[in-house]
Amino acid sequence: MSAEIMKYDLFINGKDVKPSDGKYLKRENPATEETTFSIAQAGKTDVDKAVSAARAAFQKWSSVQPTERASMLLRISGKLKENTDRIARINTLETGKPIRESKLVEIGGSVKTLEYYAGAVSRLNGESIPVSDNQLSVTLKEPVGVTAQIIPWNFPLLLSFWKIAPALLAGCTIVLKPAEITSSAILEVARLCSEAGLPDGVFNVVTGEGSVTGQALVEHPGIDKIAFTGSTDVGKIIMKTASQNIKRVSLELGGKAPCIVFNDADIDEAVEACLRGGFFNQGENCTAVTKLLLQKNIYESFLERYIEKIEKIRISDPMDENTELGALISKEHYDNVNRYIEKGVSEGGNVLTGGKRPENMKKGYFLKPTVVDNVSVDDTIACEEIFGPVVAVMPFTVEDEAVRIANNTRYGLAGGIWTKDINRAMRMAKAIKAGYLWINTYGGIIPQTPYGGLKESGIGKELGNEGLENYLETKTVNIYTGGKIPKWYKG
Ligand code: NAP
Ligand code: MG
Repeated sequence: MSAEIMKYDLFINGKDVKPSDGKYLKRENPATEETTFSIAQAGKTDVDKAVSAARAAFQKWSSVQPTERASMLLRISGKLKENTDRIARINTLETGKPIRESKLVEIGGSVKTLEYYAGAVSRLNGESIPVSDNQLSVTLKEPVGVTAQIIPWNFPLLLSFWKIAPALLAGCTIVLKPAEITSSAILEVARLCSEAGLPDGVFNVVTGEGSVTGQALVEHPGIDKIAFTGSTDVGKIIMKTASQNIKRVSLELGGKAPCIVFNDADIDEAVEACLRGGFFNQGENCTAVTKLLLQKNIYESFLERYIEKIEKIRISDPMDENTELGALISKEHYDNVNRYIEKGVSEGGNVLTGGKRPENMKKGYFLKPTVVDNVSVDDTIACEEIFGPVVAVMPFTVEDEAVRIANNTRYGLAGGIWTKDINRAMRMAKAIKAGYLWINTYGGIIPQTPYGGLKESGIGKELGNEGLENYLETKTVNIYTGGKIPKWYKG
């Protein structure tokens, strides 16, 4: 039975717009391998149209009162809530992730982000700085301008709203490029934003391949700032391109998160959190636990409980509300993850569970949650980002050894520490080179907290106050109040 194909145009200036050269890309549902979507490929002309629309809209949107912009965020969040079932269904069709995660994380998390930033309106205030009796200095927080927002495929909605919400509050306008394999749900959301009353041109979506549409967008001289989430390799290209006219850039890039469990931890709780930490969203998660470091004398007992629970994770049709683990995003990615497992084995690794497709799934890119041990610190699967449901386990004896293994990577995004000793927990938190850490819990990124990577995991923060600063420029204005200006020249 073949699925109905859902066809999408670009979304420019509040309308569905056909691509100027008429090109569309076919995309499949990764859980069924059926062609399900037809997505427009925007070329240079279309990108130019979108940037011009955003530029024209910027004049008006940036002068709308901040409290009104905050109200708009709430209206958009209302639309998302009303349309949760429909949008979640499209999100699951294009990503293969469980419908439960589409609802709770993609839409639930987007709603929370919008609501948080709606309440952050006072953060647009500048400062008044005492300088001297005859001078008043103030800072103005002004919107950075037209922003390009480039999104990966793993959380097509949530990661968009981490950028859309602060940008709109700040008074910026947007041209967003989703990953071409996950463009549908965000296009539906763009229409909802219009229905909510967002003026035409404030939020535009251009779809198509990164090397074509994405590149045209980051090169466009009408873009003031690029907010990018994706791989470190593409992040490097973006940074280079942005240098042409010094566009502002924020980069949320790859990760290789360690989770370190000491022998005084609550092991049942740690097992539970590491399950979600490693396999939530099929492990296609930049903060996924990928290096699980267990203190030697709990190594066996932890693994026994962990693996027993992993083997109970329900892998099934992602549209089923009871499904706990869905399909990987694409054949290309599925093959890549499998190659990493093979590489792990060829370097001496021992697959403790998983490593193959589940017997009950005949079609789609499903892979059992996989745990590999007998991994050495410099092995490929201990260092590179796999971005799938694959966890490398390693024993350690003392704190310093755990820190060394944890930091042995070019990434520095996230990490976890499990111990009841608060002094040790804080020592470890300071020693681990990563931007977002959890102690005695794992996962869940809260809109109030700044999130972003160190080292090659990125530049800048999203969320929290710092996430709003991304979309603001600070302008200093000095007002002389002291009568005559002092003379510098005698004449
Ligand atoms: P990716 O290949 O780097 O792509 C990310 C986005 O950039 C996509 O929209 C892509 O378009 C676009 N793109 C590719 N080449 C481009 C170019 N030359 N110019 C402009 N845009 C270009 O990453 P992905 O495979 O989608 O996502 C997985 C990666 O994202 C992982 O490394 C993961 O760690 C990272 N990630 C990081 C975070 C974080 O918060 N730090 C969160 C989630 C994911 P197309 O896909 O359409 O080609
Ligand atoms: Mg890609």
